[in-house]
Amino acid sequence: FDGLSRSLEKAWDTVRKDGKLSADNIKEPMREIRRALLEADVSLPVVRRFVKKVEEAALGERVVKGLSPDQKLVKVVYEELKSLMGGQQAELVQPKYGPSVILMAGLQGTGKTTAAGKLALYLKKQGLKVLLVATDVYRPAAIDQLVTLGRKIDVPVFELGTQVAPPEIARQGLELAKRDEFDAVIVDTAGRLQIDERLMGELRETKDMVKPTDTLLVVDAMTGQEAAALVKAFADAVDITGAVLTKMDGDSRGGAALSIKEVSGRPIKFVGTGEKMEALEPFYPERMASRILG
Ligand code: GDP
Repeated sequence: FDGLSRSLEKAWDTVRKDGKLSADNIKEPMREIRRALLEADVSLPVVRRFVKKVEEAALGERVVKGLSPDQKLVKVVYEELKSLMGGQQAELVQPKYGPSVILMAGLQGTGKTTAAGKLALYLKKQGLKVLLVATDVYRPAAIDQLVTLGRKIDVPVFELGTQVAPPEIARQGLELAKRDEFDAVIVDTAGRLQIDERLMGELRETKDMVKPTDTLLVVDAMTGQEAAALVKAFADAVDITGAVLTKMDGDSRGGAALSIKEVSGRPIKFVGTGEKMEALEPFYPERMASRILG
């Protein structure tokens, strides 16, 4: 977010010299904020709404005594950034009974299988008994990859090879999980290179079969504002409960993190920050907003 943070600095500078925020002197910093967000690859409608909200709030009556105009603007932008990303951390859905069932959905190469392993380790560290289920029968070696990851983090992996249909593998995996009293089942679903009806149809079938508590779409942060459109497509088609934003350690400009909730209505629940199994964190809108503001 360095680029974004630096660009925003310019916005604060433009109001620093003025005594207070007014309809007049707010124009310049708002232009800077708008430019900063667009450069960070935030989707245009999101930028428009954001800028409007910030301007209203900054000029509004919610005056905070003792703050200089630039401090006030920083505070307003912080609050709006936080709310843009969902306000507070979105937890995994807790099941009323039986195991948590988490479907990992996503396109190939986004880091879906890696995220399944990471989430398994994350839940295992919370003391849960976790089962991984390998249903990605289309990508060569995806099953082996998950088995290897499972071995590394000492989490069992249920698989039936590549000849059984994904919904059926998922069904049998869940059956095993219930029988052996697992607390959480993470299903690595079949990915594809692009969104198509077959992918969505199969995902729906798998969903119907196992009735997941969470369906998490894995998105690559490097895809910028396209990530938001992808989440919206999946949210509309299969009713996901949230996203995992991967590769946040790369040189993503931040657009995906800022656009996803607003565009799709679904929160980012976790972020992936590296290739290691430990590199997964819950997504905290507050911390992200602070980081952006430097
Ligand atoms: P899938 O096809 O979606 O299952 O993708 P994989 O899980 O196989 O991941 C694709 C590549 O991205 C692999 O080389 C992973 O090591 C890498 N990867 C996954 N998550 C992250 C991440 O958070 N950061 C980085 N730097 N690499 C990641």
